[in-house]
Amino acid sequence: MPELPEVEVVRAGLERHVVGATITQVEVLHPRPVRRHPTGPTGFVAELRGRTITAARRRGKYLWLPLDDGNAILGHLGMSGQLLVQPPEAPAERHLRVRIGLEGSDEGRELRFVDQRMFGGLSVSAGGAELPPEISHIARDPLDPEFDDDGFVRRVRRRGSGIKRQLLDQNLVSGVGNIYADEALWRSRLHGERPGERLTAGQVRALLGNAREVMSDALGQGGTSFDALYVNVNGESGYFDRSLHAYGREGEPCERCGTPIRRVAFMNRSSYFCPTCQPVPRRSSGRRRETPQPLPPVD
Ligand SMILES: [Zn+2]
Repeated sequence: MPELPEVEVVRAGLERHVVGATITQVEVLHPRPVRRHPTGPTGFVAELRGRTITAARRRGKYLWLPLDDGNAILGHLGMSGQLLVQPPEAPAERHLRVRIGLEGSDEGRELRFVDQRMFGGLSVSAGGAELPPEISHIARDPLDPEFDDDGFVRRVRRRGSGIKRQLLDQNLVSGVGNIYADEALWRSRLHGERPGERLTAGQVRALLGNAREVMSDALGQGGTSFDALYVNVNGESGYFDRSLHAYGREGEPCERCGTPIRRVAFMNRSSYFCPTCQPVPRRSSGRRRETPQPLPPVD
């Protein structure tokens, strides 16, 4: 699944290659990716034709392309979505779902939405150029210059829920996926079940700093593999093979203390942690630890 740094790489690519272009034609090859558009594929096509793309923006894992009429193309890559910029004569990708013809930026080209599993999609957000109302509830991400560090620390420490659950709560902070959460927790020597209300402000601040560091490392590495004309995201970058300390390393020695990394079930996915550096919190009276779940397949 694409995580925030990959989505940011896509946004930067769109900014370079489609801003200033005018939409000449739109073809919806499968209705599912435009299912969130209120007037269906026909309305989606009609509302886009002739419009000019004025910017490429992102909030969390959502991308939007503001248009010259005040609306925006709102997109989410879901589990397997890709946005590609291709010359029109390039052969159709196997899972090509939406084709948007462009002219005016350079030579003619197409913005293509390719998605095998189709959890992602595109819609036209009415009046969404500045910030689509559909996603206005989503919090800023830690890489956003306007992210409110003090507000984040305060809110985390008011809640009793586990710190990992809070890191993944899109109303609190967006874009920290499962992998980045596990890596930031490992660097911070915190177990994901530690309740926010029992962390110090310094611990939460350090955790936020580590999340930011993990994500910008990945962003730097994702950015270097970006091809000039090919806006692509496959869900995994080279970063994951080289720089992970906890995630995906079940049974391998912790790089700090040598204890084998453990994997436990967490919200239908997995959590990886070092049981020595990140001790499971003691159960406090009146609070139930989450019921153990069977392990999901390795993700
Ligand atoms: Zn360790």
